[in-house]
Amino acid sequence: MVMRFYNTLGRKLEEFKPIKDKEVGMYTCGPTVYYYPHIGNLRAYVFADTLKRALTYNGFKVKHVMNITDVGHLTSDADTGEDKMEAAKKRERKSAWEIAKFYENAFLEDLNHLNLIKPDVLPRATEHIREQIDLVKEIEKNGFAYQTEDGIYFDTSKIPDYGKLALLKIEDLKAGARIEMVEGKRNPTDFALWKFSPKNEKRDMEWEFDLEKDGEKIKIMGFPGWHIECSAMSMKYLGKTFDIHTGGVDHIPIHHTNEIAQSEAAKGVGPAHFWMHNEFLIMKDGKMSKSKGEIVTLQDLMKKGYDPMDYKYLLLASHYRKQLSFTFEALDNAKNTMQRLRNIVLEIKSEDTSKVNEEYKKKFLEAINDDLGTPEALAVMWEMLRDSNLTNEEKYSTLLDFDKVLGLRLKEIKEEKVEVPDEVMKLVNEREDARANKDWAKADELRGKIKEFGYQLNDTADGVKISKE
Ligand code: AMP
Ligand code: ZN
Repeated sequence: MVMRFYNTLGRKLEEFKPIKDKEVGMYTCGPTVYYYPHIGNLRAYVFADTLKRALTYNGFKVKHVMNITDVGHLTSDADTGEDKMEAAKKRERKSAWEIAKFYENAFLEDLNHLNLIKPDVLPRATEHIREQIDLVKEIEKNGFAYQTEDGIYFDTSKIPDYGKLALLKIEDLKAGARIEMVEGKRNPTDFALWKFSPKNEKRDMEWEFDLEKDGEKIKIMGFPGWHIECSAMSMKYLGKTFDIHTGGVDHIPIHHTNEIAQSEAAKGVGPAHFWMHNEFLIMKDGKMSKSKGEIVTLQDLMKKGYDPMDYKYLLLASHYRKQLSFTFEALDNAKNTMQRLRNIVLEIKSEDTSKVNEEYKKKFLEAINDDLGTPEALAVMWEMLRDSNLTNEEKYSTLLDFDKVLGLRLKEIKEEKVEVPDEVMKLVNEREDARANKDWAKADELRGKIKEFGYQLNDTADGVKISKE
């Protein structure tokens, strides 16, 4: 079946065709590990993971690369401000290396909690300095870079259609209204490929770069710009052009625009055929941002008694290209829906016979393959579960098949062990006797009494199941 995705490059739905038959190379901009990821960041990774699962479900073999930004991302996405890692080090009185390790682990834990399949490669920027320096030199050699007092900059005026991804109007930018100009930059959109370390400060993370200054060969300490890491590492692990690049919409105007410019300058081609971007998760008072402080983490939600799958359901119930406004009310709804789903799973749970209902599978695929329509896919799932023409075995197998894409851990749902007090057990047994005698009125009355104790009964083919309300 054909898969269609919305390509930011060109702003239209396009049929997906990989470069290599049945193999997909996919790159996702990963976390900047100077703090905990917030639940908005996690939307970006849930989106990428669902996309990867959908591709796999369609029979593609996906190689997924996600970088770890542990150096070079400044507090402004332009080239001003402090390196986020160095700023965190002052805040926490740890070394930048310790900060990176700590928050990378926190990030990996969240991936686990959310049942996201670990990317095949998770390269750290600091472990690919050689590749980044080589790429900077290649761009320089091809005539797209220049030196300033502060670093090596990319000359964006050399790329005639520089703003094509973001539909930037270069003329407006030249007017300079919104862009801070770093001294020595030739054009407002030029960006740092490599920054020199400040003269009066010893950074934790810095490396030697040899260059020519005033006709003399010198070595100078510095660190990579943020965009070059993604170009260098995607090229290393996926080749100069691959199939899909993902990230949040905030990356369109600067980070991804600059990745394209770097690839074109070095290799003459853009890095990816498809650029796919998730919209933001927003809080009541605007977008959630790590740098603004006020954030909600997955741990916060878990401490409040939510299961990570509740949050994931909330995300899947909304299309990735729509802004999603986060409220605890909406999360409570998702939690209730997940509880309903769990109860149904317990009811229909049987041996997975792999007897998938082909009609519903087709509908599910249609939804998923139409630009990752997860809300429609969930609607198909509920329709299937409600369909009385399907046996429980068929429902269960079809549901587990859908969960290959949804990733809601439905196979792991187990009967929660409930401690049932003797007096309730006595009523349950009395009710079983009443049912055996076809005394339905008495059975109903006893069900009511049991409910008063806070227990719920579910009559299944395997007998009565007792759960807490
Ligand atoms: P960062 O760790 O800041 O580099 O961001 C990691 C990923 O999260 C990037 O793909 C961002 O585009 C994305 N992102 C940041 N904030 C949000 C948000 N509020 N909602 C959705 N995605 C976001
Ligand atoms: Zn990136």
